[in-house]
Amino acid sequence: MLGEGILKGLAETAKNFAGSFVSEERLTTVEYPEQRLPQIENTRDFPFLVYDGEDAMAGLRCVSCQICEKECPPKCIYIVKSTDKKPDYVGKAQFYPTRFDIDISVCMSCQICVEVCPFDAIKMDTEFELSTSDRFGGLILDKHKLAKSNSYYQKIHPTEAAEVDGRLEEEKQKLEAKAKAAAEAAAAKAAADAAAKAAATTPEAQP
Ligand code: SF4
Ligand code: SF4
Repeated sequence: MLGEGILKGLAETAKNFAGSFVSEERLTTVEYPEQRLPQIENTRDFPFLVYDGEDAMAGLRCVSCQICEKECPPKCIYIVKSTDKKPDYVGKAQFYPTRFDIDISVCMSCQICVEVCPFDAIKMDTEFELSTSDRFGGLILDKHKLAKSNSYYQKIHPTEAAEVDGRLEEEKQKLEAKAKAAAEAAAAKAAADAAAKAAATTPEAQP
């Protein structure tokens, strides 16, 4: 029947409206901000930068590759790459952002920056109470405001963060195994070279 869906929707609304006077289960809203609904895990609003360890700036995973800056559709990311390098989470020397700003008044929460980042350095936050009367100062977040710990990421997106942690740990172990194998091969070669040199300098026994 034409309009059946609309009538069903109106009936449900009426049932909830009348029922909410006698049953809390029929209440479909809460009295925000005094009351809050728990956020679902896939909630997302604006991006943040993940850091490992205790020092936010030293532990930033971002290596300033600028892929997110290039791919952001409304161009609301601004990055300045460092001229020196610092060790990343596996100890490899990497560039870092001396400046990393996101204008959240322009950001459309599309998550493309997260999808394109090869280093799991940028993720979507769930913080939404960001209104301010300071249009230019208050809505442009710099790297200090954007930096949030991996434990914060684990708290807001536990399933996704566990998958990322597992993958990074696996990658770290592979790199460590590779470095160990290379060190062992170098030590074996050095020992073989030393043995060959010693054999070459040893005088031959006289008949
Ligand atoms: S979520 Fe989208 S619009 Fe916002 S910074 Fe990332 S890529 Fe840009
Ligand atoms: S957040 Fe990721 S994609 Fe963006 S500059 Fe840093 S490492 Fe590159």
